[in-house]
Amino acid sequence: MPPAPGGKQRTLSIVKPDGVKKGVIGEVIRRFEKEGIRIAAMKMLHLTRRQAEGFYDVHRQRPFFASLTEFMSSGPIVVMVLEGDDVIARNRTIMGATDPKKADAGTLRAEFAGNIEQNIVHGSDAPETAATEIRYFFSDMEITS
Ligand code: GDP
Repeated sequence: MPPAPGGKQRTLSIVKPDGVKKGVIGEVIRRFEKEGIRIAAMKMLHLTRRQAEGFYDVHRQRPFFASLTEFMSSGPIVVMVLEGDDVIARNRTIMGATDPKKADAGTLRAEFAGNIEQNIVHGSDAPETAATEIRYFFSDMEITS
């Protein structure tokens, strides 16, 4: 039988420093579990500036790169590997639009994000970026199946 559209995927989720400071780690995880998304790996890290720059390398030329990487290295984050059917798109739906003012009601960003930069969560946007981002934080041995 052919796989379902989207099929079983993995994606990288991050509770950003503002999310950790606001105490919404549990709320983020609860939404994933409620949707039947499996958490295959999880850890807390405090990125150095250099590590944050490496993660957001694709945004190096953007005007907000310095501010974004300062923010991302300003406190602990929680990184997770999520697994499930079509989980890349489903996680993006749970997160809401990058700018919380444009995010649909009920999404994590609409409910908890302060502004377009400090927007609580990160989620990979495509299979290729998901694979690269997961590899940035996790070895194969750290991901459960
Ligand atoms: P995402 O996939 O929804 O996280 O959005 P992007 O990949 O476009 O941007 C990555 C991250 O950069 C966002 O989550 C924000 O934290 C930040 N960001 C995006 N656009 C802007 C912007 O216009 N200004 C600032 N200050 N930060 C931004």
